[in-house]
Amino acid sequence: MRGTQIPMPPGSDRALLDPFGRAITYLRVSVTDRCDFRCVYCMSEDMAFLPKRDLLTLEELDRICSTFVGQGVRKLRITGGEPLVRRDIMSLFRSLSRHLASGALDELTVTTNGSQLARHAQELAACGVKRINVSIDTLDVDKFRRITRWGDLSKVMAGLDAAQAAGLKVKINTVALKGVNEDEIETLIEWAHGRGMDLTLIEVMPLGEIEEQRIDQFLPLSAARARLAARYTLDDLAERTGGPARYVRIRETGGKLGFITPMTHNFCESCNRVRLTCTGQLFMCLGQEDAADLRAPVRASEDDAALERAIVDAIARKPKGHDFIIDRRHSRPAVGRHMSMTGG
Ligand code: SAM
Repeated sequence: MRGTQIPMPPGSDRALLDPFGRAITYLRVSVTDRCDFRCVYCMSEDMAFLPKRDLLTLEELDRICSTFVGQGVRKLRITGGEPLVRRDIMSLFRSLSRHLASGALDELTVTTNGSQLARHAQELAACGVKRINVSIDTLDVDKFRRITRWGDLSKVMAGLDAAQAAGLKVKINTVALKGVNEDEIETLIEWAHGRGMDLTLIEVMPLGEIEEQRIDQFLPLSAARARLAARYTLDDLAERTGGPARYVRIRETGGKLGFITPMTHNFCESCNRVRLTCTGQLFMCLGQEDAADLRAPVRASEDDAALERAIVDAIARKPKGHDFIIDRRHSRPAVGRHMSMTGG
C-alpha cells in the first residue's frame, strides 16, 4: 500500500499517512553528526565525522522541514549530534519560526546536551521555542566527565539556568545505565522536580559500535520503576506528548516522570514520527536500516514537487516497528548508525 495524503479536519491541513494508518505529524531533524561530548553509550571516542560538503545546508534543511510542514507535520525537533554546535544554527530556528507564527506548526523544539545553552537560550525563546529537552545522566561532576568523556557539568548547569530564566520549559532526559547511574535515579528525580523540570528515563538502545558491551550498560526500566514504586506513589498519566514516553506523576514531588522503554516495551503502534539526518537521509524507523534520500530531489530542482513525492513514497515504506534485542547472543548493534547520526 502506498503512502497517501488524506484530507484532515480544518486547521490540521493535510496529513501523511503510512501503510498502517499512522499519521506522520512529527519530524526529528539531526542538523549535525558532530558533538562536543562523547557519551560512552552513544559514540566511540574516535568517531569519524562526515565531510562538511555532504551536509545539507541550513537553507536545504529549512526547505525540507517546510515541505514536511506543508504536508501536515505539526512538530519539529532539532537534534543531532549536538545541534547547538552547528555554526549559525540559530538562523534555522529563526527561519522555521515563521511556521509557528502562521499556525502551520504547533511546536518547534530542540534536544541538546546543554553545553551551549547559556548563549542560545534567550534567542531560542525569542524564536517561539517553548520547551526543550536537555540530556543529563548524572549530577556527579566526575561521573559526568566519565560518561560524556569531554563534558563539563558546570556549563550544562549554567545552560539550564539560562533556559529557565528565558522562560523555556525544560525536560531532562536521562539514559539509565546499569551500575553507573541506577543508584542516582531518585536524586535526579528530586533535583529535577525541585527545579520544576520533568524527567524522562530512557533505556539504552543497541545503536552503532561503541567500546563497551551493550548488555553491560542495559538497565531495564521495569526494574527501575519497581524500585521507585517502593519509595514513591506513582500515578499513571494518560497524557502523551507525541513521543514514545509513558508518564507518571510522583505524588510526593508533584513532578512528572517519563519512561521510554524501546527494549522492554515498544510503542511502535502509535509511532507518528520520522527522522531526517544531516545528509538528507530520511529514516522511517529509528531501529531499521531503510532510508530514503531527500538530498537528491532537493538538489535536483528548485521546485518542491519531486521532494514532496519522495516524502510521500518514503512514508509508504514506513515499517511496522523495530525489534531491538540486547542479550549475550546479540552482541552486534541492531543498526550500524549511532544515535548521533539519526538524531535522538
Ligand atoms: N546532543 C543532544 C543531546 O545530548 O541530547 C542531542 C542528540 S543525543 C543523540 C539525543 C539523546 O539520545 C540523548 O538523550 C542521549 O542520551 C540519547 N542516546 C544516545 N545514544 C543512545 C543509545 N544508544 N540509547 C539510548 N539513548 C541514547
